[in-house]
Amino acid sequence: MTSDLARPSLPLRAELVGLEPYGAPQLDVPHLLNVNENPYAPSVDVVADIAHDVAEAAAGLNRYPDRDFRALRADLAGYLAVESGVELAEDQIWAANGSNEIMLHLLQAFGGPGRTALSFAPTYSMYPEYARDTSTRWVVGRRAEDFTIDPQAAAALIAAEAPSVVLLASPNNPTGTALPARTLEVILDAAADVPGGCVVVVDEAYGEFRREGVRSALHLLADRPHLVVSRTMSKAFGLAGARVGYLAAAPALVDALRVVRLPYHLSAVTQAVARAALRHAPALMAQIGSLRAERDALVEWLRDRGLRVAESDANFVLFGVFDDRHAIWQGLLDRGVLIRETGPEGWLRVSIGTPEDMTAFKDALVEVAGL
Ligand code: PMP
Repeated sequence: MTSDLARPSLPLRAELVGLEPYGAPQLDVPHLLNVNENPYAPSVDVVADIAHDVAEAAAGLNRYPDRDFRALRADLAGYLAVESGVELAEDQIWAANGSNEIMLHLLQAFGGPGRTALSFAPTYSMYPEYARDTSTRWVVGRRAEDFTIDPQAAAALIAAEAPSVVLLASPNNPTGTALPARTLEVILDAAADVPGGCVVVVDEAYGEFRREGVRSALHLLADRPHLVVSRTMSKAFGLAGARVGYLAAAPALVDALRVVRLPYHLSAVTQAVARAALRHAPALMAQIGSLRAERDALVEWLRDRGLRVAESDANFVLFGVFDDRHAIWQGLLDRGVLIRETGPEGWLRVSIGTPEDMTAFKDALVEVAGL
């Protein structure tokens, strides 16, 4: 039988038929506030140091990279000790090409056919995709009106569904909501009672933007062998283009991930970039304080104009509620400001940019929404 090149008969998995790839629009506009990037590019010094180390790595590119990226893991542990005050050993750290790949490794190791992954919506829209791609059953509980998770309801859902993986973004995307320590403790207790075991992943992609008094889940690792804390260099570090995510967990858990990773998944170039950047952590992250202040000011500004705004511990703000959010989104885009149409019906999400970005956003919103 001949095959039509335009409409080939491919054995695509049934659950993938008709699906579009995940991803926000990549448009060339002056104010990019749609994917929670850091608006500040690395400084000339940092760029020079990265370029130097990449050149050194390039000279050895005929060889495969260190498959266990030991030096990078030690550097990441050193960074977390400073950032969160939690001392971790190198074999408690794992890294991959963005925390997206970190999450995929977790689902490959701990999910799979006949197993369940559970989260609480609204949350990061890639989570169901990791589940789908690993043939893991996907279950979602609901967050409350204020986007928090009710600890007792969460514990009951975990007991009823017996997931092998629970995914909790803290701060949550797209709402910005941090998970209180008490809620996490109740969830960890419930997970510890799941027959066969349950891994709880706290996705702290935006962890560095947390407000005073909010603690990282890293503090709980010492007593919780089934806890994973995931981080990324994409947000606070301003290195989204480098694709470096990592996690901290018990050594036995990290060891399990080594089985599912592709050999040499982290290129020598990626390792060199990440290590050079980590040497400049304070410089790269110098803007965090101003981004936090900019976020808090924006929350207040939006509330002063009568809008609903979710509490945010991240570098973005979810606000609404609009009868026609698409019209608002389009109106902003027409004025050179790209934000994200995401979250519950009627809400929109804006990333925190430079002061110039925020002025452009506010001016455009006043016009478009008639504030
Ligand atoms: N987790 C959350 C909650 C996110 O919002 C994102 C990126 N938008 C990621 C993980 C993945 O980020 P990366 O792969 O760049 O580390």
